[in-house]
Amino acid sequence: MTSSMPSARRYRMRPQTVLAPQVVATQVKEKFGTLRFYASGHNSAQDGMIELAEMLSARLCELCGNRGRLYRDEWIIRTRCPNTSGFPF
Ligand SMILES: [Zn+2]
Repeated sequence: MTSSMPSARRYRMRPQTVLAPQVVATQVKEKFGTLRFYASGHNSAQDGMIELAEMLSARLCELCGNRGRLYRDEWIIRTRCPNTSGFPF
């Protein structure tokens, strides 16, 4: 082996090189039955994760996390499963 060959140690990932930017949540709320997450300091990958979480919030029961859907309960729109909404899917 030659001395110019890189050692395995050189390829070890250093935590500080793989960390994503710190996301700062500026507002987190429920609106029309789904999650709204407003933040600053995020990169495009983190933006995609936030968007995915917002989309999933329309499909997961807000009480138990089971598969759910949006439905109107009088004047309030909620995301609930059949067990907690009382309505069959
Ligand atoms: Zn539920």
